[in-house]
Amino acid sequence: MIGTLLDRFRGLKSFPRGIHPPHRKKLSEPRPIELFIPKGPLQVPMVQHLGAGCTPIVKPKQEVQYGEKIGDVEAFVSAPIHASVAGTTGAGIVAVLPSGRRVPAITLTPAAEGALPVGFLEQFLDRNWDGVEPTSFSPEAVVQGMRDQGIVGMGGATFPTHVKLKRDPNRPVDTVVLNGCECEPYLTADHRLMLESPEAIVVGLYLAMHAVGAKRAIIAIENNKPDAIEAMRRAALGRPGFEVAVCATSYPMGGERQLVWAVLGRTVPSAPKGLPLDVGVVMINCATAHCIARAVVRGMPLTHRVVTVTGRGVARPGNYLVPTGTLFSELIDHCGGLTDEVLKVVAGGPMMGPTVPHLNVPVVKGTSGITCMVDAETAHWVETPCIRCGKCVDNCPLHLSPTKIAHAVKFRDYAMANQYDMMACCECGCCAYVCPANIPLAQYIKAGKNQQRLMAAQNKK
Ligand code: SF4
Ligand code: SF4
Repeated sequence: MIGTLLDRFRGLKSFPRGIHPPHRKKLSEPRPIELFIPKGPLQVPMVQHLGAGCTPIVKPKQEVQYGEKIGDVEAFVSAPIHASVAGTTGAGIVAVLPSGRRVPAITLTPAAEGALPVGFLEQFLDRNWDGVEPTSFSPEAVVQGMRDQGIVGMGGATFPTHVKLKRDPNRPVDTVVLNGCECEPYLTADHRLMLESPEAIVVGLYLAMHAVGAKRAIIAIENNKPDAIEAMRRAALGRPGFEVAVCATSYPMGGERQLVWAVLGRTVPSAPKGLPLDVGVVMINCATAHCIARAVVRGMPLTHRVVTVTGRGVARPGNYLVPTGTLFSELIDHCGGLTDEVLKVVAGGPMMGPTVPHLNVPVVKGTSGITCMVDAETAHWVETPCIRCGKCVDNCPLHLSPTKIAHAVKFRDYAMANQYDMMACCECGCCAYVCPANIPLAQYIKAGKNQQRLMAAQNKK
């Protein structure tokens, strides 16, 4: 709490607890976004979002154009999949997602020429949004545009955005918070996007406000990105209801409960049922806002995303605009390959990202980074008994008792774990990071949550 008061005294938005791991962002931060065109074949999963998976609507050996819809499903909580390059489809396969989950996918071999529209990178980073009036689109048209172009939360949650931004008369929204914190160590994809295309992000944020009927927008950025704060301030200048909130650099600032509390002082009810919507707030990631603008105003589908490839385990770290379906192996080869010292490769950042089972996994809509870590950057889990120091409790941003939950999960006492509010855990990893006994608390809790969901699904049948 003293840290929070000090941050507030320095004019920074902050939340109680949390941790301060080394940022390690310098490896990729200065590298402008580069377009990556894979040789393929790509593996395009039919499940790249939360909700119902898609069914392929193309046949094997069919030629498809860039941006053509290749998978869809009627369910409301879903998002269609579009061809991320022009090319030829192959047989249906089972792809392994970066999380290790196995899902149906189709292979796509890029055309030798013209796989992407000419000037694709320039179009993606286009800074000329003058004259675009977001209120000229009806809220329904904004929501439909997001659904048609397959927009999902790009911060990693991959929840379909048209569902999140559909107006609910029973739950009015007064504020949209733009998450530009990028609090995970190593990752710089959002930072580069805010520097290189801030105008599109502001238009997307305005469209989101318009869709939900909010009058206020808060652009939240950690104070370790002063250039992004400046770029976003300039892009938002003159937009009514917009403000920039400078947040303390503290992990997990980008978590929705922490950020809503930091910038608005409102307490989001406990997960899994409580949402920012319950306190009149919707939160979107800055890459999602960028996609919303391109989808609604320009009719561009979500086929590419900016991915940070980083860590001391890769030869040439950087930020790349990558088609979904690109295999990690091909992208890493383009970055000079893995170094001899590499120990593990993580999808996303090191705090929340899963270690990938192998490199034959595709980049999907939620892949914000590929972190290739060497021995010196990696914690060694030689687990020893709990010494009851209480550090995990002191640092949990959600005020849980990680040691009690993990203990209950270890002994498969899920009723006890639930008594300690296991399902509220956001899996931020702070508890495991600070534990001097090297107990992988977050991993135990994550396993317990998965088991709980499995049991709930079985009980429904
Ligand atoms: S219990 Fe969950 S929310 Fe709390 S620190 Fe651990 S991982 Fe984060
Ligand atoms: S931080 Fe680790 S050692 Fe300390 S109380 Fe929590 S589980 Fe036990």
